[in-house]
Amino acid sequence: MTALLTDLNPEQLEAVTWPHQSALILAGAGSGKTRVLTTRIAYLLQSGLTQPQNLLAVTFTNKAAREMVARISTMLPINIRGMWIGTFHGLCHRMLRAHYEDAGLPQAFQILDMADQLAVIKRILKERSLDEKVLAPRQLQWFINNAKEEGLRASQVDTRGSFNRTLAECYQVYEAVSMRGGTVDFAELLLRCYELLSRNEILRDHYRGRFEHILVDEFQDTNRLQYQWIKLLAGSGSQQHAAIFAVGDDDQSIYAFRGAHVGNMRDLEKDFSVPKIIRLEQNYRSQGNILDAANALIENNKGRLGKNLWTAAGKGESVRIYYAATDVDETSFIVDEIKALHAEGLSLSEIALLYRSNAQSRVLEHGLFNASISYRVYGGMRFFDRQEVKHALAYLRLVASPDDDNALLRVINFPPRGIGARTLEQLQDQAEILGTSLWQAALKVCEGRKAVTTRGDQPGRGIAGFVNLVLSMQQACEGQPLPEIIRRVVDQSGLVAHYQAEREGNNERLENLKELVNAATSFVHEAEDDSLTAFLAHASLEGGEHQAEGYQDAVQLMTVHAAKGLEFHSVFISGLEEGLFPHENSRNEPNGLEEERRLMYVAMTRARQRLYLSYAESRMLHGQVRVNVPSRFVDEIPEELLKRLRSSGFSGAGYRQGLSGTGQNTVSTAYSRQGRGKHTPVSAAVRVAPQGLNTAGLHIGQQVSHTKFGTGTIVNYEGNGSDMRVQVNFHQTGTKWLSLTYAKLVPL
Ligand code: ATP
Ligand code: MG
Repeated sequence: MTALLTDLNPEQLEAVTWPHQSALILAGAGSGKTRVLTTRIAYLLQSGLTQPQNLLAVTFTNKAAREMVARISTMLPINIRGMWIGTFHGLCHRMLRAHYEDAGLPQAFQILDMADQLAVIKRILKERSLDEKVLAPRQLQWFINNAKEEGLRASQVDTRGSFNRTLAECYQVYEAVSMRGGTVDFAELLLRCYELLSRNEILRDHYRGRFEHILVDEFQDTNRLQYQWIKLLAGSGSQQHAAIFAVGDDDQSIYAFRGAHVGNMRDLEKDFSVPKIIRLEQNYRSQGNILDAANALIENNKGRLGKNLWTAAGKGESVRIYYAATDVDETSFIVDEIKALHAEGLSLSEIALLYRSNAQSRVLEHGLFNASISYRVYGGMRFFDRQEVKHALAYLRLVASPDDDNALLRVINFPPRGIGARTLEQLQDQAEILGTSLWQAALKVCEGRKAVTTRGDQPGRGIAGFVNLVLSMQQACEGQPLPEIIRRVVDQSGLVAHYQAEREGNNERLENLKELVNAATSFVHEAEDDSLTAFLAHASLEGGEHQAEGYQDAVQLMTVHAAKGLEFHSVFISGLEEGLFPHENSRNEPNGLEEERRLMYVAMTRARQRLYLSYAESRMLHGQVRVNVPSRFVDEIPEELLKRLRSSGFSGAGYRQGLSGTGQNTVSTAYSRQGRGKHTPVSAAVRVAPQGLNTAGLHIGQQVSHTKFGTGTIVNYEGNGSDMRVQVNFHQTGTKWLSLTYAKLVPL
């Protein structure tokens, strides 16, 4: 026991040994919140204060959940299999599986991931002939998920006004389609589980009796429904059974855009009569300069709950900032630094490359690949999202539950079996008329065919072939172990033959299909439930982080969102440019900039020893060259904590300099590469345009005035000569693209 507690500071110790009473630990990054939470679990178990089955611990990512389990396992030699540790989605799924009937779901209900959900929504819009311009699929997806996160069903949403009515109607159709197909999206997992517990007193009492301790990591990112779910499980007021142990950091709340509600912290305090908030102020992760830089940055946010973070670790190294001429140059700098760090003995997995948007990873991946440095991308294209894997999974879904329309549509004609669009449309009409799934409609077509004729040229022939294929797969899989089921389905589906026949044989796709069998084999070893349905749920819920573990040493690439809770020896944050980080979308969101700043705070505080920030004056993104102003976040870091490095191609119209109107490069020290690889030349295309802008007497960062829109700052440009357009961020009216020829901008 003492061994568990020896390293803790007094506040951490207080938190770990807190009595059986609700607690809120509010503390900054790297102060040991997660460590306190896992140590408390070990402490409660080891001292016999609770049993493994009486604990529920929840966090946000699969990776974090796995790490939590791993940390506890190293502290205690107990079997943690039966414990309820996981993500909100994972735990709700587990409950729904156990009580599917009470929850009104078919036994083999399937989970729709975001991409599947979008496909269903697109179909609904198409069937209703709704123009994408009137209602974009993503907008409807957002609306539905948001409503669910607010706990609202289609019958409960606002229907005032015709647009709201359209949204509500589509939501209603979506609900019906999901019910018919036995599919459940991510938001539905939570809402349905919540409804199940609130409706079913017996179940609610069962779980309330069971869970004595509910522990929540990253509490600041819970949304309202998640909080209500926790509250329901714990019981509140005189009904309270479980003690909630929540750890969080308001400065790291980065999911407001998905409904996270920092107010949950205040509600928790009130609802669960938390006697006092425990604050942890010592940071054990980052060295002094990194911590000071992060603290200085976050001070620019208002309305914080406020906390001080200090470290005993000493100042350490300065925060390095590199000004690159282009994104290619930025990448080659990063690659060179990684090589140097690795040569000094640092393992690659201790290096993280963080970026604001997924699209930024491409150029980084390219650079790493060319330099033969192993890397792994988290949260990018997941293994289970690859086309061939999705096809195989669709066949597997049909074996488990043929009423899954989405799965059926994906593979009814893949590999191609001559089912044309018209036949498919007829099938869909038929399903609509009968009010059944497509599968049921397809069965009807087959019955009809038998009754009418046995000639082979009917349009239903292809459909009959498909129905028979699925039926024979179901038969072949009966009673087989999971890896064998997958082997048989992949084999019978014709996918392997199809990809083999593609020009030069599509090896990667074939490898991935084989890998699916391996994935199932390791799943069988790890999971308690090794059924096909459980595996399919795993494929939907798995965030893709799994690929990165256990294999060779590799640099870790991920978005800042995905880096939450993690730490690395060295961290690179690239793309520190206005419009990219802070992201341009944040301009239109209330408090958007503050959320971006919290993201930056999360990013910086991932680093233990070394932190690199980088900025590229021009960048190719979404097929366009953007000319950039450095992120304001760089300016918010005190100069004395920074070490400025820059490429010789950099011209230096900084955010601060730009706004002050000088547009000059005020820092003259060029970064000397000292023979560390060749400098990447700046491409000609990139060079031409800024000169064009200069000949017009303008530059990025310059203040201009426009007769209609007032004053603003030039933030971007595209095109050349008379086709040149500039993007201006107007103080009153926001960002606009304007033709330089017609806009008559007056430099100020
Ligand atoms: P974040 O806000 O980023 O999630 P956190 O508050 O959860 O951070 P942890 O990840 O728990 O912080 O801890 C940060 C690092 O500090 C870890 O490496 C952890 O092992 C270490 N640490 C925490 N407390 C102590 C301690 N008392 N002694 C030594 N190391 C500690
Ligand atoms: Mg943590």
